Amino acid sequence: MNIGWEIDDCRLPIADWRRRSKPFRFSNRQSQSFAALGTNRQFLLCVSAFLCLIFMPSDRGAAASTPAKPSDTARKLVALTFDDGPRPWVLKGNSQPTFASPSLLDLLDREGVKATFFVMAWRLAPAADRECRKIDAGITCRQAAEEEHRRGHEIENHTYGHGDFRRMNKRYGEEWILNDIDRASRTIQPITGVKPRYLRPPDWEIWPELAQHIEARGYHVMTKSTSVPAAWRDVDSEDYFCYGKNQSKCPQPSLYDYVLRTIAQRERQGVDDQILVFHELPNSVEILSKLIPELKKRGYTFVTLQKYMEAVAPSRSTGP
Ligand SMILES: [Zn+2]
Repeated sequence: MNIGWEIDDCRLPIADWRRRSKPFRFSNRQSQSFAALGTNRQFLLCVSAFLCLIFMPSDRGAAASTPAKPSDTARKLVALTFDDGPRPWVLKGNSQPTFASPSLLDLLDREGVKATFFVMAWRLAPAADRECRKIDAGITCRQAAEEEHRRGHEIENHTYGHGDFRRMNKRYGEEWILNDIDRASRTIQPITGVKPRYLRPPDWEIWPELAQHIEARGYHVMTKSTSVPAAWRDVDSEDYFCYGKNQSKCPQPSLYDYVLRTIAQRERQGVDDQILVFHELPNSVEILSKLIPELKKRGYTFVTLQKYMEAVAPSRSTGP
């Protein structure tokens, strides 16, 4: 029965949490104490352990999946995140027929929401300027990132080249992946003034050993894996299925409905904090213009990922 680590490890940094999440066993000494009931301190220990067992919440899954929050921040939190940008034509909005989009940055400002952008750092290089202005919004990707920062949003690491880790590992080896991540940070840091603290692998493709090596470099690795508590897991909106020519995999009856359904399902499991993952796409801006007010109505407060992590996992340190 895994009870020991659930009680005292719920606020550990994920790396420690993973390391220590082994089955709980009574030590020999504790086992022997059952034989000596009634005469010594071990008896009291046994009674305490027994009472713990009885009064542990019966929904073990929910207890394990919800990191404790300090009482002063005991509220429902959303960290709104966006991958694969910056895309100026969505951030600033544009009215070109095929690519028309409301401005995501204006929407966030109107709603008073600070978000976290996981950028593909190659877009920030001067060499990307032409590509970035293919659908022209009047500014380059780098200028769009500067504007994100100016408006109070966070910019985090989605690698430099957005290469699939498994394929890159096969082709170039792990060191190449680590360099690609560092290269992204070196590109982002002059814009934000700080080294990114969070890394979201392209398509969440990762394995424990690589995750450990990335964490050792000071990053928190974003994941959908059930090996971490549910409140620290990314909630994939699947908005990328709802844009472009082939939308056969777009959730039904609508993306809006799907995201609300997913959140409601997590709430039923006792998880009322959400890291939502979207992309800078016109349909996502449309949906968020309804979703943000709806989630506020349901009692959610929107915070940056850093604030979210501080509140939901108060003791974790996210690197240098
Ligand atoms: Zn991506």
